[in-house]
Amino acid sequence: MEVTSYELYAVPPRWQLLKLETSDGRVGWGEVYTKWHFTGDSQPATANAVDQLMHQYVLGEDPSAIERLWQAMYRSSFYRGGSVQMSAIAGIDEALWDLKGNAAGLPVYELLGGPARDRIRVYQHVRSHGDVSLEASEATGRAAAEAREHVDAGYTAVKLVPTDGLELVDTPSAVERAAEVVGAVREAVGPDVDVALDFHGRASKAMAARLVDALEPFDPMFVEEPLAPEQVGEMDRLAARTSVPIATGERLYSRWEFRPLLEADAVDVVQPDVSSAGGITETKKIADMAETYDVSIAPHCPIGPVALAASLHVDAAAPNALIQEQTILEDDRAMSYLRNPDVFERTGGFLELPDGPGLGIDVDEDRVRELAGTDLAFDRSPGYRADGSVGER
Ligand SMILES: [Mg+2]
Repeated sequence: MEVTSYELYAVPPRWQLLKLETSDGRVGWGEVYTKWHFTGDSQPATANAVDQLMHQYVLGEDPSAIERLWQAMYRSSFYRGGSVQMSAIAGIDEALWDLKGNAAGLPVYELLGGPARDRIRVYQHVRSHGDVSLEASEATGRAAAEAREHVDAGYTAVKLVPTDGLELVDTPSAVERAAEVVGAVREAVGPDVDVALDFHGRASKAMAARLVDALEPFDPMFVEEPLAPEQVGEMDRLAARTSVPIATGERLYSRWEFRPLLEADAVDVVQPDVSSAGGITETKKIADMAETYDVSIAPHCPIGPVALAASLHVDAAAPNALIQEQTILEDDRAMSYLRNPDVFERTGGFLELPDGPGLGIDVDEDRVRELAGTDLAFDRSPGYRADGSVGER
């Protein structure tokens, strides 16, 4: 059996679904990030990377040799790693695992060692306070109400980004606003629900310290990307001053990038993105490495259904999986890409293990073709500070 062809579909809102086909007529699916983003008529950089990796290392090869193909894609390209290559590898890797599971008639998590748990906890995002047209008090009230709605719908954990763009050293009111919204959300959901916070890498280490101090009384589940991803060396100072678990990793792309954080004891939760950090193969290794440092994983996943399915297989098999991010469980268009959207049926705050063969999803290729190339838009303009310099957003 060999890999004979592939197709990469760009589908709304900004996702790329990759289909591999084999000489015996099997199909496997993966999901590739749009790195960077659709803008104007330009193609995502990852689409080119997929083309190059497929032609150089995968077409004509035996798809069952996942580790060898992964190593070929990673090591043989010489200039390696980073957001583009590792996402292209990830999508191909996921599709190879889907093929292997389909061929074996087993879910991928069974091939990773079998289930470490019966169900997988997921969280929901609270977004309403991000509407900059609202007054602060109104935004806070809406966030609290939204969080309560998610809890009433059965979720046992929510996450919010409590800050806008920040100055390098910002005013007391910037910190107070963050404390107000987090406090209101905590009050709305009570002590039996987890409230995770994401600074989105917007804080300098000076502001991260002040924010963490101000938000610690609300007992966050974790604070995510308290610093920009480049500042791994500054994270241990932050971790040492607070009892709030420190999380990061959605912008780290391999075991080698997580290693310094783990060795410095600077992190409690790692958040690799399966579709960004080399796929199922690499993310399971990151999880295993983290386990030896008493660190859990909470895989990042703000994209589509193939990526979410791939994440769930890692969660199912990894003993240290804490909780899974998702943004699509209530999104009808996202679910329309599947013939079996009930694979993601949620009971309370948990999803079932995806127990069909392969990734467990049945991609509706007719629907994918119908929407491919339409309604693609995702641009990221700079976030400016008050003096016109570029900050984080
Ligand atoms: Mg994040």
